[in-house]
Amino acid sequence: MEGASQPGHDRKTEGFGKDAFGRTFVGLQTIASIMQRLMLPRPVNRRVFLVSMAVAGLALPLEGQEAAKRMIVIDPGHGGKNDEADSGSTAAENRSDANHAALIGDASVKERLLTLELSKKIAASIAAKSKENGQTVDCVLTRTQDDQNPDFTQRMATAAEAHASLVISIHFNSGEVRSSNGPVCMYPRAAVNPHLERDEKVAKALAETVRKTTLAFEEPGFTTHSACFDDQDLVDRNEHGKQVRPHGSYLFYQARNNPTLRDVTVLYLEVDYLQSKLYQERSRKLFVDRKAEVFQAWADAIAGELISQATAMEKKE
Ligand SMILES: [Zn+2]
Repeated sequence: MEGASQPGHDRKTEGFGKDAFGRTFVGLQTIASIMQRLMLPRPVNRRVFLVSMAVAGLALPLEGQEAAKRMIVIDPGHGGKNDEADSGSTAAENRSDANHAALIGDASVKERLLTLELSKKIAASIAAKSKENGQTVDCVLTRTQDDQNPDFTQRMATAAEAHASLVISIHFNSGEVRSSNGPVCMYPRAAVNPHLERDEKVAKALAETVRKTTLAFEEPGFTTHSACFDDQDLVDRNEHGKQVRPHGSYLFYQARNNPTLRDVTVLYLEVDYLQSKLYQERSRKLFVDRKAEVFQAWADAIAGELISQATAMEKKE
């Protein structure tokens, strides 16, 4: 702003010399001119003016772009060469383990491959939508290869390096109860999350978007559930019967450990149930028979919701 005031002042002074009011006070103008020459030689001043305008002209849009730019980081859950636990880390609280391979009829599906496939589609959809609407929303994946399995610290370091506005970890669920269908979206609990209300709102919007998208593929009359909760609600037990937090918690823990991500929305989305004995037909339709259509629909819906949420966050800042 300091640079802008000088050219403005200069332009006013030049205009003064050309109008009728200026001509009436030639003497005054001459004095002003002499004073100006003494304080700021005119040729230099003009150059300063032009350079300042050029800088202002270039700097303003750049500054605007910088402020409007949002970065969505997508974390394709799991990964690694082996189908068994391939943690990428020996620390229990920091590993992204089993790939949750499932057998749907005679088709073998693996969570680590599906999360990567959907994440890439979401990224492509974000790029396309962002370009269409002239928005500046970028996207980065925490892994791009089947056999990669970065631990949670590495995944969150990628998010921090990218200056994430929003981080979403993509997963597929498993369960054997009546409500084992539809999306589940988690966010960090109040104890470690100063933005609980904001994150809950974003998680709900996202889960509802996914549920509605899946609804188009359901049998008539089928009621799909969507659920949202903070990770306090979830406690797993390990092989020794000891209570442990599920992966969402570990991811959130590593996100909170990274100072750059402390104020960033980090979500853990189970898009739907990959393994569900009660809904085998449904799983087959979503993950085998109509997979191409379903995945594209999920990708477009999730991309749209993420862009709108990231953009809304920007307005509030
Ligand atoms: Zn998972």
